[in-house]
Amino acid sequence: MATTQTPLLFSTNNNGQPFIHNSHTRLFHFLNHSIVDISHLKQIHAQLLRTIHTNHHPQALLLHSRILHHSSLLDLRYATRIFHHFQNPNSFMWNTLIRAYARTADQKHKSMELYKAMLMMEREQQSAAVIPDNYTYPFVLKACAYLFSLSEGKQVHAHVLKLGFELDTHICNSLIHFYATCGFLDLAHKVFEKMSERSEVSWNIMIDSYASAGEYDTALRMFCEMQRIHYPDGYTMQSVISSCAGLGALSLGLWAHAYVLKRSDKNMIDDVLVNTSLVDMYCKCGSVEFARQVFESMPYRDVNSWNSMILGLAMHGMAEEALDYYARMVKVKGLVPNSITFVGVLSACNHRGMVNEGLMSFDIMTREYKIEPRLEHYGCLVDLFARAGRIEEAMNLVSEMPMKPDDVIWRSLLDACCKQHASLELSEELAKKVFESEGSTTYSSGAYVLLSRIYASASMWNDVGLLRKLMTDKGVNKEPGCSLVEIDGVTHEFFAGDTSHPQSEDIYKFMSEIEEKLEATGYVPDYSGAPLVDEVNEGKKNTMRLHSERLAIAFGLLRSRPGMPIRVFKNLRVCNDCHGVTKLLSRIYNVEIIVRDRARFHHFKEGNCSCKDYW
Ligand code: ZN
Ligand code: ZN
Repeated sequence: MATTQTPLLFSTNNNGQPFIHNSHTRLFHFLNHSIVDISHLKQIHAQLLRTIHTNHHPQALLLHSRILHHSSLLDLRYATRIFHHFQNPNSFMWNTLIRAYARTADQKHKSMELYKAMLMMEREQQSAAVIPDNYTYPFVLKACAYLFSLSEGKQVHAHVLKLGFELDTHICNSLIHFYATCGFLDLAHKVFEKMSERSEVSWNIMIDSYASAGEYDTALRMFCEMQRIHYPDGYTMQSVISSCAGLGALSLGLWAHAYVLKRSDKNMIDDVLVNTSLVDMYCKCGSVEFARQVFESMPYRDVNSWNSMILGLAMHGMAEEALDYYARMVKVKGLVPNSITFVGVLSACNHRGMVNEGLMSFDIMTREYKIEPRLEHYGCLVDLFARAGRIEEAMNLVSEMPMKPDDVIWRSLLDACCKQHASLELSEELAKKVFESEGSTTYSSGAYVLLSRIYASASMWNDVGLLRKLMTDKGVNKEPGCSLVEIDGVTHEFFAGDTSHPQSEDIYKFMSEIEEKLEATGYVPDYSGAPLVDEVNEGKKNTMRLHSERLAIAFGLLRSRPGMPIRVFKNLRVCNDCHGVTKLLSRIYNVEIIVRDRARFHHFKEGNCSCKDYW
């Protein structure tokens, strides 16, 4: 306990009432400012307890509240002990502890427990001193949001309404954040709509929630509305730029970048979050060059900025450059890579089939940086082994993984088996694993298609038929292929065999021209990636020549300005035939074609692809 010679805080006056020496206002001043040392705080607290035996003196209460506040920032267990020392803590004290627990990583539930205890005390004592106030709710709601407790949060919402806080902007913002985090954007929007006064924060939370949920169009629409009322800040622009990235809309992304520059707000132009989201956006929209320019001109970069660049380069198959950036980040800048950095490094190695580099990076990650490998890291490594033809090593790795492999990992193994004509038993076993790990609610067609292809190559037509029947019975539908192409800032969407585009007639006429030119080069269709095996000969030819990216590329060739690269975004993996055709088209029409498929980017130029046919 304290043995310092600090002057006594309290004395007793003639009536036996404690009072505070004027000279101790110094201590008040001290407690009103930040304290970084818990032992010093404990000394003050001990002295306070020694010299005053009642908590009812208003100034004693004030000092205790201050001590509770400081200790809640320094040592939460100590703060909790102080708190329980009080028989009747007031709202300030409850709020202090609720807030402190809401900020912890693993004890947020205690915020909720405290809030319930607070309500109980209010009911028992009927005391105005413990009524939850406008400081209570933001933290209670924050705890509900991070615990995804929808029902508890809804109850809290009801209390907010009962106590008449529905006009409090700060509380409403917390409600919006709570509903959005729990995945109920409609409820979040309802609260937003009813607000009498919306701050920049209200708009930012709404826009960010839509962007994070993949509702990019809505996020951008709200941004347009917001501009009429508030100046967007760095947070707003970050959400706007990531929405452009999500849409793969380069022209929109360029516009957002120009908007940031036009604002001439030095803070925003230099903002590391804004710049990092620009790097990410340019990579996702297919322009690594712009991403690199933004990155190199950043006045300050954090680990996330480097991660965005490394992941972006990996996605474009530029493995060597991704590894160069990694080396620069670590060796030149002395930054400590994190878990995401290694997802970037490993996927860079994966896209190029660099098994040794991948293994080395995995080793550095776990041994040197002591980073616990996550499912994504194992996923990259398994896929790396499998695609490089080392299926046995991939399988060994899967069996050694400390966590349960997900359907993505099993599917990548099955995919490799299919391409490398592995044994039928292994393929069937893997397909079973995919079905099991997908669960009974999601019936994706991927594994069925792969398995039917394997049966077909073994001429097991009976099994192909059985599999088709199983798909029909279970209601498994093949995800329709869809490709987007942007021409002069307008995005055009094509599905496989689509005839709904207003210029469809021109497109199909042009496709016949394209086919003639392809045949003149000696092109022979590659059916190995045909989606379903029973689409024989002419059927196969027809479905493959009408794959959605073929239509999008044809429209791009027809309408985009000469010399401009054609950018296509596809929801599925590009098939062998389309890959080969796109290579030829880039040479025949002397145009750069950039295709983002489900897994990565392909840059087609002068008859070659940047993936070097490894995808
Ligand atoms: Zn195709
Ligand atoms: Zn490629």
